[in-house]
This record gives sequence, structure tokens and C-alpha cells, in this order.
Amino acid sequence: MSIAQEIQRIQQELASTSARLVVVTKTRSIAELQETYATGLVDFGENRVQEMVEKQALLPSNIQWHQIGHLQTNKVKYIAPFVHLIHSVDSMKLLVEINQQAKKNQRIIPCLLQIYIAQEESKFGLSQDEVIQLLEDPIFSTLNHIRIVGLMGMASFTENVAQIKKEFQSLKSLFDFLKDNQVGVETGFVRWEEISMGMSGDYLVAAELGSTLVRVGSAIFGPRG
Ligand SMILES: *Cc1c(COP(=O)(O)O)cnc(C)c1O
Repeated sequence: MSIAQEIQRIQQELASTSARLVVVTKTRSIAELQETYATGLVDFGENRVQEMVEKQALLPSNIQWHQIGHLQTNKVKYIAPFVHLIHSVDSMKLLVEINQQAKKNQRIIPCLLQIYIAQEESKFGLSQDEVIQLLEDPIFSTLNHIRIVGLMGMASFTENVAQIKKEFQSLKSLFDFLKDNQVGVETGFVRWEEISMGMSGDYLVAAELGSTLVRVGSAIFGPRG
């Protein structure tokens, strides 16, 4: 199937859910991104700063670039002028730098807090306690150039659907807790709206469990080389 057909198939599967599709374009060619853009989708996800910056310069300016991979503090400045949403905020240090670079660019940068939900050791992210600590830290209430708009999480890399469901459910419960208790909202810098969860192997499970943003690459373009 063509890129357009794969996208249409996934959009149909997601139609009965609240999840929107972020097309993960990392490692894909400019031609493939142009083909994606031609379908009308504008939410593109990249995990490497340099690659995002290079592609951004070559593609239409209405594309909404999502930073989905681990972000190093010293690279924030390169994406700050244009990034649409940073999914992978996992420390106060990073948030402080995003705030500073957003201020320099006279804008507010929307961010998600990445939560550690997988069993694996290698995934980045905050624990449930760390999120609450971060939002209640006096420093946080000074960061007026960022908006926390939700949470992001990556499930374990496993075929075990029960395990994946358990992990997504834990992210959804944390989100519901933060939203119901309006945690951080009094600062004016927090809105509990988005849950970024689900990739090619598990986007339908994630969408059924309340994801609002699924990040899908290989199910559209085929395996990465
Ligand atoms: C690569 C990547 C994805 C997409 O992975 P696929 O399996 O190709 O859909 C989603 N989220 C993050 C953070 C990624 O790095």
C-alpha cells in the first residue's frame, strides 16, 4: 500500500477514538515527507534535533513539528523557534532551558511530561512522584514561557498485550489524577489535555485506553533501515 493508503487505513481505525495521528517521519526522505504532507496531515514527529531542523527548512511552514525523542538541554535552542510540541520533557533542568529559549523567541512552547511506564531500564522519563514534585516546585511557577499540556509515555517493547495495556492504563490513571485534582493549574502554565501514547505496534490499544496523540512511523512507511 502507498503512504496515503496506510494513512487512510490508520485514520479510519482511529476515527471512533479521541486519538490524533502524529506521523513519525524520522529517517524518512524528504520525498516521503512531501508525500505525507500531500495527504493533508501536518503533524510530523522527529526524534533527532538536527534531522528535524534540516527537514523543517525544506518543507512547508505550516507543518507542526513534534519533538518525540529524548532532548538534550544544549539542543533546545535549535528547535525553539518553530517546534509545535515537545513530548519528551523529563527534568526541571530541561524545562528551565525550554522556557529560556521560548522567551528568546518571544513565544510559549507547549510541552508534555514524559512518564516512565515501561518495565525496561532504558526508557527515559519521570516517575509519578517526580511529576508532582516538579509541578509543585517553586521554580516551576516562574516558567511563564512554557505550557504543560499533558503526559507522554512509551510502553515496554513486548508482544505481551496485557503488559502494554497495564502500562498505558497507569499513564491514563496518572493523567486522570492530575486532571481531576487540577495539579499545577493554579500556576496558569498547565492544562491537562493530551496523552501521547501508542506507536506502530500498539496505537490501537493506546487509542482505546484514552490516548489523544499516537506516534506512528513504521506502520505507515515500513520498517526503518
Ligand atoms: C520512533 C518513535 C516512534 C514511532 O515508532 P514506530 O514503531 O515506527 O511507529 C514513536 N515514538 C517515539 C518516541 C519514537 O522514537
